[in-house]
Amino acid sequence: MRRRDFLWTAPLALSPLAFLAGCPNKNASDPWAASAGKPKILVSFAALHSLAANVAGEDAQVKCLLTTTGPHTHGDATPEQIKLAHGCDLLVINGLLMEDGADGFVNRLEKSAANPKWKVLNVGSKLNEDWLREGVCHHDHSKPGEDHEHGIDPHAWLSVRCAKKMVESIRDELKLLDPSHAEGYDNRTAAYLKKLDQLEADGKAMLAPKEEKWILSFHESLGYFGETYGLKIAGSIQVDPGREPSNDTLQKIIKNCQRRKIRVIAVEPQFPSHTSAQVVLNALRGLKEDPIDAVFAEVDPLETCDEADLGPLLYESVMRKNLAVLAKALR
Ligand SMILES: [Zn+2]
Repeated sequence: MRRRDFLWTAPLALSPLAFLAGCPNKNASDPWAASAGKPKILVSFAALHSLAANVAGEDAQVKCLLTTTGPHTHGDATPEQIKLAHGCDLLVINGLLMEDGADGFVNRLEKSAANPKWKVLNVGSKLNEDWLREGVCHHDHSKPGEDHEHGIDPHAWLSVRCAKKMVESIRDELKLLDPSHAEGYDNRTAAYLKKLDQLEADGKAMLAPKEEKWILSFHESLGYFGETYGLKIAGSIQVDPGREPSNDTLQKIIKNCQRRKIRVIAVEPQFPSHTSAQVVLNALRGLKEDPIDAVFAEVDPLETCDEADLGPLLYESVMRKNLAVLAKALR
């Protein structure tokens, strides 16, 4: 999986069809033309696409709205994305204010798609409330009297129990849409839930013996993941996804890592590691007293993906790779 495009420049790489949008031929093909009467399921981003593809099998067609741009930074929909949204029978989103809410792109997409049978499955809304984690705070806590909500951390798909619940929600919705294939949806879901259980058990077995438990994350994506596998997340480098931290913030991050002797810095494949993460790594290695032999561990939160890597195997294979990378980096 090679995807080094920085998030802000990635929209141009989304799809060759995006370039055709300005061409005189306005009758470009229907992206759902090959679905042959099967339910047309559009999923917002890579991780959820993989979960849905496991439920759908050959009985439904599943397409991914976002690939190389992640859901945090998604701007206006491309003509190709609008066509996908116009023709779908169901749009599956994570929710938890990732794509929904007043500022989320789903509202804008609904307007531009003008799909008469518009239907959204918000899988985050089906999760047990006490599984949800508090979101990252962008406020200054040193200012007195500022009462505010922290919101919800949306990265729930990185917890296996949440991913399983998402898979079950997708199964239930597909059975409603396409009852004649209910048995297939049930069977594939049951098989996939077992695989997810095995993934969790294997991950725990790999990380439980580690004495080091703290890692620094690149953006605030690993809370649910850490909770699942017993890792502690000492904050993140990019508090606002896609925006580099100020020098002051970097100094605070470095102090925090120094205090907790944090060595492992989780970086993400879609960001070049010579940015702020490299500054933190170099600072920790260069400490005059007790330098820390910090290392990068590439942990992919599955928010973006090359089109070619989409599919039923993606979620499990990337999660296993993430676990193996951390198992190697942590002591
Ligand atoms: Zn994220």
